Amino acid sequence: MEERGLAPKFDTTFENARPSKTHMALLELQRVGILKFLVSQNVDGLHVRSGFPRDKLAELHGNMFVEECVKCGKQYVRDAIVGSMGLKPTGRLCDASKARGLRACRGKLIDTILDWEDSLPDRDLSLADDACRKADLSVTLGTSLQIKPSGNLPLLTKRKGGKLVIVNLQATKHDRQADLRIHGYVDEVMTKLMKQLGLEIPEWTGPAVVESSELVKAGCRERKLCGPS
Ligand SMILES: [Zn+2]
Repeated sequence: MEERGLAPKFDTTFENARPSKTHMALLELQRVGILKFLVSQNVDGLHVRSGFPRDKLAELHGNMFVEECVKCGKQYVRDAIVGSMGLKPTGRLCDASKARGLRACRGKLIDTILDWEDSLPDRDLSLADDACRKADLSVTLGTSLQIKPSGNLPLLTKRKGGKLVIVNLQATKHDRQADLRIHGYVDEVMTKLMKQLGLEIPEWTGPAVVESSELVKAGCRERKLCGPS
């Protein structure tokens, strides 16, 4: 489209976008203990809004709904997109209270969306790196694996003796390294996989933010019950 001078049309907003079958299947695979960690390059926030536990998720390129305090590092997951991109101030201030006093932090909040020259978030990248090294299987879903370093992470699994499955419509950069390649739509592949495993794909019941996988185990899905504060 770019070659032809056309721009893609979006028929929805980030707030109205719904998690796909794949998002919901990943949620269930995490819940039953098959999926140990999820690494995403998507910035649409749908993994978080689907209820995927944030401590088992690395969002390497940021999240449109998340803003972060430059002073204390506290992150806020909002109901609407935070309004800026490229790690710029969103215009709001941190209201985290300091350990003892009652005074709030008041640090500037910035968005978490990377621009091309920005480096990846340390915490997310190191969690993703660890998970890829530990995994006995990495499955890549709907990515050409061309963006570095994210696209190279699954190769760490191979290097440590694990296996790699690539699911993507087109060829990817690392097809030759894959133990299995599936050229198809991820929703179709995941639907079949879940059937094969005898697992249901849960219905999405609206945006939910879950900070910890321990709370998923306890059956807690509500933002107000699971939030950090
Ligand atoms: Zn702060």
